[in-house]
Amino acid sequence: MKFFDSLIADTDKLISSLPQKSFYKGNAWNDVGHNQVIMRRDAAFELDGVGFNLVTSQDITDEIVVVGDDLSEIGDNRRFARISFVQIDDDADDQKKYNLIKKIDYVKYHTFPDGYMMRSTSRSHKESVRVSAKAISDGADFQKIGSLMIEKYKEVPAVKGVKIIFITCPDADYSETERIAEKNYAIAETLNHVMNSVVFDCETCNLRAICDEVEGMKELHFGKSDN
Ligand code: SF4
Repeated sequence: MKFFDSLIADTDKLISSLPQKSFYKGNAWNDVGHNQVIMRRDAAFELDGVGFNLVTSQDITDEIVVVGDDLSEIGDNRRFARISFVQIDDDADDQKKYNLIKKIDYVKYHTFPDGYMMRSTSRSHKESVRVSAKAISDGADFQKIGSLMIEKYKEVPAVKGVKIIFITCPDADYSETERIAEKNYAIAETLNHVMNSVVFDCETCNLRAICDEVEGMKELHFGKSDN
């Protein structure tokens, strides 16, 4: 699975010159097991930006990277991004890999960190988070939240490694995180078409720009025409 690897490289480039800390997976923050409503009056701050996964067959070691301030250092509402590199087992066939991308995307809807209310929609890369003042005073930080997320991703048996990057640095280029998120979505939509469409006319296809750019996409579609 290499379709998203150029976006992993773009993300690495984006954060390379920014202040960052890296953590091993440690003790996971508590998961309350259901949607938790945090009222505005109980919030310490809100984070607003994008949150998405980049699925790959590259070796990924479990890791949490914080680019900018950690939760206890954030005093006010911020732009932010959460980008997860997720390594999957390369043994799976194309259909299984495609199914895995969707399954991995559902993980965020089944992760409920205590005092960390995530909101996103299934057809969007937008992600906002409301963090409660109690969670901050109880010691919530990105290492613990990220460790919980890694555990949740790994409930999918084909997931081998996860690196989660939380970006809160005011100097980060958030237009670039948006661009990467949108490209990720466009590639996933093209993959969806490739796996499900039996129309093979590149001249008239509105996905040609993505197929021209992403190595292996055309081969995957035309390979399916032989089946
Ligand atoms: S291979 Fe051609 S027909 Fe298939 S999705 Fe890409 S551009 Fe469209």
